[in-house]
Amino acid sequence: MTDPRRSIPSVDRLLSSPAFAGLLTELPRDLVVARLQHEIDALRRSFDRGERLPERIGDPEWFASRVERSVRRLAAGALRPVINATGVILHTNLGRAPLADAALAAVQQLAAGYSSLEYDLETGGRGSRYTHCRDLLVHLTGAQDALVVNNNAAALVLALNTVARDLDAVISRGELVEIGGSFRIPEIMARSGARMREVGATNRTHAADYRAALSERTGALLKVHPSNFSIEGYTAAASIPELVAVAAEGGVPLIHDIGSGLLIDPARLGLQSEPTPQQSLREGVDLVTLSGDKLLGGPQCGIVLGHARMIERLRSNPLCRAFRVDKLTLAALTATLRIYLDTERALHDIPTLRMLGLTRAELEARATAFVAALGDIGITAETTAGNSAVGGGAAPAASLPTVLIALEPQGLSAGELERRLRAGDPPVIGRMIDGALVFDLRTVPPHADEPLLGALRRACTAT
Ligand SMILES: *Cc1c(COP(=O)(O)O)cnc(C)c1O
Repeated sequence: MTDPRRSIPSVDRLLSSPAFAGLLTELPRDLVVARLQHEIDALRRSFDRGERLPERIGDPEWFASRVERSVRRLAAGALRPVINATGVILHTNLGRAPLADAALAAVQQLAAGYSSLEYDLETGGRGSRYTHCRDLLVHLTGAQDALVVNNNAAALVLALNTVARDLDAVISRGELVEIGGSFRIPEIMARSGARMREVGATNRTHAADYRAALSERTGALLKVHPSNFSIEGYTAAASIPELVAVAAEGGVPLIHDIGSGLLIDPARLGLQSEPTPQQSLREGVDLVTLSGDKLLGGPQCGIVLGHARMIERLRSNPLCRAFRVDKLTLAALTATLRIYLDTERALHDIPTLRMLGLTRAELEARATAFVAALGDIGITAETTAGNSAVGGGAAPAASLPTVLIALEPQGLSAGELERRLRAGDPPVIGRMIDGALVFDLRTVPPHADEPLLGALRRACTAT
């Protein structure tokens, strides 16, 4: 019996067949050869695993179309823009905060050429990449100094490693939180070199618990905002002013990880219990850490704010070099912070804040028009009341009333529609509620209404 693998044509035979002529004029020969070899290797491997070879194994046309698809997939990559119709504003899996137009323009301008990243234009000497947005951060938050690193996890590791390495960092048992994407406070603390000293209980921790934990081995007190959950009932937590007092007694710094960096009054956005760095610093916290790509609405980064002397110590920690941000992040962050100089402009121009501020009436008008447009192309849907979410580990209890669009595709299950939309171009991500596919336009920028309609039309008519 002959080995079935012998039915796979040779690379040379396939390349010289008419089926490959078109590909070879369009694409570099070495690319076609490499992808063809890749396909053939994959077929051999699947045969070795016990799978059957495809029927068309001898057909050069079949190989040519496989190679064409393989090149297209390779070039497209996997990171693609999607339409977020989930209504979750800071969807960590969908890239958290979209950037403001001014931030995009700044990135584009800076990326196209050289910049004063580490060059002092006044003296002509070496500058620091950390100065560019420092003045803005200081002005906006009232901090003495500011430092930007890659993300909030890095900010926290840097802060703990600088002030509490081989010392105790005292933290409430109610704040040993996990923030999606494998960020757990106990594990982060362990890697920072600080010893975690837990105090209190899950639901109740008092200032006296922290005080009792103070010793000559204490390096810092740490307060973490439990940003993605809330506990109700018989609860108590030490307030920031109480912790400031305990930290002063112990002669150690108080670090406050506030998570989401909301820079404007939470009441303006109908959010309760969302901390701001301004408030925290005003109350006397030594170091505040926050994310750049949550409610602040900027690029992924971590920001540390606080006392000048302490920030200077962080800056000279060798880990700071390992956590350093790139110029594109700094360009986007600086442009985003500049918008905050005018609060009204920030509410309008920063996508996260604009989406948060959309009213139910505005969303209802848009949803109704969208359902009518769907009707025009033969797709049934109806509007229903619901809630959007802030997401990204912020304001878990906030209710953001919205108007949802529930799709009722004919002859197509909700699961199949969801799958088709996800596989489409652009991919569309919705929400499944009680077995129905639902869209929330809060997170869909108005200019994406047309592409969204197009995607739905294709998904509902595809066979
Ligand atoms: C989101 C969050 C973090 C992690 O921030 P990244 O920027 O994702 O590293 C840490 N602490 C709190 C309280 C958070 O909400």
